Amino acid sequence: MKELDTVIITLAGLKEDIYQYSFNIDGGFFEKYDFSEISECNIKIDIQLVLSSNMMVFEVEITGDVNVPCDSCGSSFDMAIKGNEKLIVKISEFDNFDDEVWMITSFGGEIDLTHFVYECVMTFIPAKRVHLEGECNKEALENLEKFKVIKESNDPRWDQLKEIV
Ligand SMILES: [Zn+2]
Repeated sequence: MKELDTVIITLAGLKEDIYQYSFNIDGGFFEKYDFSEISECNIKIDIQLVLSSNMMVFEVEITGDVNVPCDSCGSSFDMAIKGNEKLIVKISEFDNFDDEVWMITSFGGEIDLTHFVYECVMTFIPAKRVHLEGECNKEALENLEKFKVIKESNDPRWDQLKEIV
């Protein structure tokens, strides 16, 4: 499948109507965002555009999964994400880009929804990222547990060292 790193809707030649678009994005889409934690994903973006002479309404539906490290065991897993977002673009005398309503002076030949889609995906990733119950990496959990025990225990050898110093 072709790697897609932008979501651009061509407007040239469209008349007032309802249009449907589908995009698939993978990890390459997030490469230009330095702070993104996503390197692997498989996400489908369905966009419905309702176009009228002075307004565009985009309904964006995002489904798929992103590969993230689990908060409990630290192993990466594919977490399902799903969500809807609406964007309204209106003709106005000046440009103004709010979260959900954009004002632009003319529609032009295309509209770039790349950043909007990026923001949607980031919003739909839950803050708490954990495996389904029982699916955590047991080995990783055991290692974390050992590490905790070592950190918490007061190893008497440290006291001996302190006396020497
Ligand atoms: Zn886990």
